[in-house]
Amino acid sequence: MTKNNDIERGLKDPARDKSGRIALSGLSLAQLKAFVKSIGEPAFRADQIHSWIYAKWAGSIDEMTNLSADLRKRLNEAACVSALEIATLKVSRDGTRKYLFRLPDGKLVESVLMSFQDRDTLSACVSSQVGCAVGCTFCATGYLGFMRNLTAQEIVDQVLAIQRESGQRISNLVYMGQGEPLLNTENVIESIFTMQQSVGIGGRHITVSTSGIIPGIEQLQKENLSVTLALSLHAPDTKTREEVVPITKKYSIADLMKSLKDYVHTTGRRVTIEYVLLKDVTDRPEQAIELAELVRDIHCNINLIPYNPTYNEDGTALYDRPSREAQWKFKELAERSGKTVTIRLERGTDIEAACGQLHNAFKE
Ligand code: SF4
Repeated sequence: MTKNNDIERGLKDPARDKSGRIALSGLSLAQLKAFVKSIGEPAFRADQIHSWIYAKWAGSIDEMTNLSADLRKRLNEAACVSALEIATLKVSRDGTRKYLFRLPDGKLVESVLMSFQDRDTLSACVSSQVGCAVGCTFCATGYLGFMRNLTAQEIVDQVLAIQRESGQRISNLVYMGQGEPLLNTENVIESIFTMQQSVGIGGRHITVSTSGIIPGIEQLQKENLSVTLALSLHAPDTKTREEVVPITKKYSIADLMKSLKDYVHTTGRRVTIEYVLLKDVTDRPEQAIELAELVRDIHCNINLIPYNPTYNEDGTALYDRPSREAQWKFKELAERSGKTVTIRLERGTDIEAACGQLHNAFKE
């Protein structure tokens, strides 16, 4: 199939399936308009296709029954619904679903769907990159290195693909899967616009989690998207944080705290401090007290994440998980900050879908 210049200009390198057909799922309304124009159709066709993709979760062009048979035939020649393939799907005892998606270039990424019995919400955790360059020492993705950024379309299509497969509407979204979202800021911001305008997930239901990329935080702040910013702090002191989150050598804890304050000041949004509890590394009582001191002046809440073991080839765990007693002690001391401190509810640990465990994509 030859590429059409109009499409390329309007669509900014859309995903294509193996036969070169343009994938429609994950494109914004403006991009769909550029596409229908390129095949000589009026703009309202884009609204119809948009509705089939985003409201009715159509899985094929043949399902788009308010389009004539002739148009569907022409569409099938030029386009497909999605270029994402579900390579594997694992379902946890607690209902968590972990998807391994194969991208058109053969690369693999994971996304997770979590439901909570006590809440009427469904949360999806999406990936923003294939692999990750940050190299956090507790994270399975970090050990694999960086491969490439995902496009905005590929990020949005993870959510749509989950909705199509599960038949359930996602109400909350976290950019906390594989990759550092704020090292792919432009595509992440573009995807947030489409999440808000087309998928129908409001900014207040979207969280972007970063290891602390200050230029990315500033860019997010400038866009004023009303999303929640989560900082993966993981240690209150420079020595430990440099060991666990190596990007600390580039963006210091002091500069990060200033950046968080600016974000809160500009957006009026409370930020979240994520903190992984690694036995004898980040779970010491003096660190809880230091953490409380560090965030005292910041409008935030603290989310403690007891480490979910990931294992080396020889079967040994990278770190150990603190006891329940140590977790509660840390929580109690961190509450001296006057902030709400929670211990994250575990989801999908039996299928390695929990935080820091996403790595199976690369074992294939
Ligand atoms: S925790 Fe996030 S930022 Fe750190 S290595 Fe893993 S994917 Fe990258």
